[in-house]
Amino acid sequence: MSKRITQEREPRPHVKCAHDLCIEPAILSRKLKGGWANLCKRHELFHIQQEADEFCRVKNLTTRLAQMAFIREKLTPKDSPRVHWERVLQTHGLAPIAYEMARNYLRGRGYEREAGQDDEEVAA
Ligand SMILES: [Zn+2]
Repeated sequence: MSKRITQEREPRPHVKCAHDLCIEPAILSRKLKGGWANLCKRHELFHIQQEADEFCRVKNLTTRLAQMAFIREKLTPKDSPRVHWERVLQTHGLAPIAYEMARNYLRGRGYEREAGQDDEEVAA
């Protein structure tokens, strides 16, 4: 039997959640105010919610309307599509499809792709 198969059959070591009395296994480590802690899914969500609550408190987003207005403002594009796609072309390290979409947009062709560009068409 190969080493790889043997490793797949071995159970993963149980890592205890950092919360007292919690019996769920930890799924990740997260840096909290007191240091790194191994957390189960439920306690990970608990800490995410705590951070979100603190963020809203600091930003004075105390009502649902204020929170929704904040998100809308954050999601509203600051630039025109043309400026956005020009910036994409000036940015290094993006996925090739981003540059293709930018060139298509700037050529006035929107987001449409040409036949043969999709991976499935190449593989077929
Ligand atoms: Zn837990």
